[in-house]
Amino acid sequence: MFRKTRLYTPGPTPLLPAAQFAMASADIHHRTAEFRALYSKVLAQLKQFVGTENDVIVLSSSGTGAMEAAVSNLTSPGDRVLVLTAGKFGERWTSLAKAFGCQVDLVSAPYGQTFDTAQIRAALQPDTRAVFVQATETSTAVRHCIQSIAETLRAAAPDALLVVDAITGLGTTHFDVDAWGIDVLIGGSQKAVMIPPGLAYLSVSQRAWAAMETSKNPRYYFDLRKERKVAPKGESAYTPAVALIAGLGAALDYIAGQAGGDLVAGRKLLIENAESCAAMTRAGLTALGFTLFAPEAPAAAATAVAVPDGMDSGAVVKALKSRFGAVIANGQGEMQGKLFRIAHLGFFDYMDTIALLGALEFIARDTLGLPVEFGSAVAAAQRVFAARKPDESASAACLCGRANCARS
Ligand SMILES: *Cc1c(COP(=O)(O)O)cnc(C)c1O
Repeated sequence: MFRKTRLYTPGPTPLLPAAQFAMASADIHHRTAEFRALYSKVLAQLKQFVGTENDVIVLSSSGTGAMEAAVSNLTSPGDRVLVLTAGKFGERWTSLAKAFGCQVDLVSAPYGQTFDTAQIRAALQPDTRAVFVQATETSTAVRHCIQSIAETLRAAAPDALLVVDAITGLGTTHFDVDAWGIDVLIGGSQKAVMIPPGLAYLSVSQRAWAAMETSKNPRYYFDLRKERKVAPKGESAYTPAVALIAGLGAALDYIAGQAGGDLVAGRKLLIENAESCAAMTRAGLTALGFTLFAPEAPAAAATAVAVPDGMDSGAVVKALKSRFGAVIANGQGEMQGKLFRIAHLGFFDYMDTIALLGALEFIARDTLGLPVEFGSAVAAAQRVFAARKPDESASAACLCGRANCARS
C-alpha cells in the first residue's frame, strides 16, 4: 500500500495548502507598498488572533528567539526572576534567564503535572522582576492554568511582569490577555497557525514597554523597541521572512473563514477543534491500554502517552512511520523511550484523528504485542465525538478549558 506522509508532531504541524500557495507566490520586496499592505494586515489580524489591544511584534526566528527577546528586553543582570517549570520548555526559560545573568527562583512540578498555586505564591518575592511560564508544556503535554497563575501574581506580586510561552497554547487554549494582565504572550509559526517554522510573534503590554526602558541586558537584532517603532508603517526593522508572513496572512484568513470571516470566532473554533481531537485521542489510547502521561491537566495541543514498562516508545514512533507514513514525536530528553506524543494543534480534523487511532491499533498489537481488539480505540474516540457539544470547552467555568481546573 501507499504510505502518505502525515505529520502528527507538535511543531512543525501539517501545512495549510492555502498558506503554501501564498508562500510560493510571495515574490515581493519588503520595502514596497505591496509588502507594507500585507504586513499591516497580518499585524492587525494577529492582534485579533492573540486577542489583545497590546502591540503584537513579529520576529523572523523560531519560537525560542521570542523567548530570548522576552528575557533580554525585560531583565537586567542580577534581576530576580521566577521560572515555573514542569518540563523541557520550562527548563529552557531557566537556561535563558541564567544566560542573561538573572537570579532564578524556581517552582517545579514533576513531569506530567502542573503547579500548586500556593507554592507560586510562596515563591514570589517583593523584588521578583518577572515570572516565566508555559501555557502548555509541549514536552509532557500538560496544560498550566494561566488564568489562576495571573491572578496569584496580581494579588501577591503586582509589579512582577508575567511572560507566557503560548507557542503551543495559542489556538489550543483560551486566554484573555488584557484582562488577566499577561505582559508578554508568545506564539510561533510552526504550531497552530499551520505554516512552516521561522516566525515568532509576541504581544507586549504597556508595562512591558516601560520596563524595557530601564532594563540593561544587551540586545540588538531582538530589540523589540526597533520593531515597535517601524511596525505602524507596515515595516520591520530588518529583512522579514516575507514568504512566511504571506503564509501567515493566508492561514489567518482561513481560520476566520471557518467562522464566516470572524477571526475571533474562528480562533474559538480552532481551539474547540484541538480540544475535540485531544479528547478523542485520549479515549482511544486509554482503550488500547496506554497510560496518559498528564491525566490531571491534559493539553489540547498534544497528548503524551506512556508505553508499558519495559517497552520502548521509539519503537512505536518508528513503526508508525515505516508502516503507515505517520510521524509522531518521541519523548524529549529523559522522557525519550518512555512516552510518545501526538499533536492536535492546527490543521487536524476528525478524519486525521480516527485514522491515526486505527493505525495505532495495529502498532499496539504488532509492535508492542498488546492484546488489541480491532476497532476498540476508534470506537472509544467515536463515542467521545458523538457526545461532544461544540461549545464544550468554551462553556467551562475557567477559560483554560480544563475540566478539573481548580478555578472551575
Ligand atoms: C515549539 C515550542 C517552542 C519553540 O521552539 P522552537 O524550536 O524555537 O520553535 C517553545 N516552547 C514550546 C512550549 C514549544 O512547544
